[in-house]
Amino acid sequence: LNRRLTEFGTTIFAEMSALAARTGSINLGQGFPDTDGPEEIREAAVRALRDGRGNQYPPGPGVPELRAAVAAHQRRRYGLDFDPDTEVLVTAGATEAIAASLLALLEPGDEVVALEPYYDSYAACIAMAGGKRVPVTLRPDPERARFRLDLDELRDAVTDRTRLLLVNTPHNPTGTVLTREELTAIAALAVERDLLVVTDEVYEHLVFDGAEHVPMATLPGMRERTVTIGSAGKTFSFTGWKVGWITGPPGLVTAVRSAKQFLTYVASGPFQYAVAEALGMPDSYFDAFRADMRTKRDLLAGGLEQAGFAVYRPAGTYFVTTDIRPLGESDGFAFCRTLPERCGVVAIPNAVFYDHREEGAPFVRFAFCKRTDVLEEAAARLKTLG
Ligand code: PMP
Ligand code: GLN
Repeated sequence: LNRRLTEFGTTIFAEMSALAARTGSINLGQGFPDTDGPEEIREAAVRALRDGRGNQYPPGPGVPELRAAVAAHQRRRYGLDFDPDTEVLVTAGATEAIAASLLALLEPGDEVVALEPYYDSYAACIAMAGGKRVPVTLRPDPERARFRLDLDELRDAVTDRTRLLLVNTPHNPTGTVLTREELTAIAALAVERDLLVVTDEVYEHLVFDGAEHVPMATLPGMRERTVTIGSAGKTFSFTGWKVGWITGPPGLVTAVRSAKQFLTYVASGPFQYAVAEALGMPDSYFDAFRADMRTKRDLLAGGLEQAGFAVYRPAGTYFVTTDIRPLGESDGFAFCRTLPERCGVVAIPNAVFYDHREEGAPFVRFAFCKRTDVLEEAAARLKTLG
């Protein structure tokens, strides 16, 4: 393994899912739903397979039906107009979108300012692109049950070598939804310093309690410098289909496509047609999905509180970050390693998402995209910890 990748080892998600399987624990580690997405969308995939749509290489940028559906979704939800032919690109999940964006847009030595904790593939992809990551730490704000961006720290992190800002909202793992004010400040900085922005908005539909998802590209001066990433895995609960997409101005989309064509070239043919149908579902689907996840959030967050954790009840995503110090613990790694044998539950230590590991040490992430009976059982088990 080359020097760019040795520090990353095996992803925490694979490691923790293997631990869950080995110990027969409830897996609240890796974020995937235990209930598949809508029946009619599964049927749409079957129809595409049967009718021979997408069984051979689909077009490089994605099938026209899906590109049109992505553009229509961005227009309907956010008032953003993207040309399906030049400003939309279908990818093998958001994961490939992240990789292709960074590989396409970075020169070796370029600095990328990313919010810490960050989704684990960001660091690996920045490294593969020969870039240098510059983390800006989101700090806990227990009063508001969220993590906060320090705008002065963000400003100080930008240097003459900075090429792009890598943003994620709603934010994995903290569940924080960046406020319009925070995003506006990020946007103003990007414009002032002439930076590109890659924004991972895969949890765009999972915002709760009136929190607002503000797409970066809607802010002044941002549409022309922003690559926005979405994922059918998250929005429709089909993580195995690996259908994602980017939207952005033609120059950036063409650049990302140049990298993407040499990664997978294309992927997920029949599923692309099914996701095109999914994106056209009425608002009632998205509302019901959100309401269901909110119920699950409250169930797990309530259980964790009763078990003695300090809970950052998330405004978005399907993850809840907890602080384990009220349980008399301080090392999330050690805690997660022994949790399966102590009570048969698997979680993720947030420290893996930090360069400044000590900042993340007491935080542990639980996924709540699981059936309510599973969450109830997990909560009951966690209560035996104390
Ligand atoms: N970004 C974030 C923030 C995620 O949480 C995930 C999924 N865990 C991804 C990207 C990857 O999405 P996909 O499964 O579509 O590749
Ligand atoms: N995004 C999911 C999470 O944060 C996991 C994805 C993966 O396993 N790579 O848990």
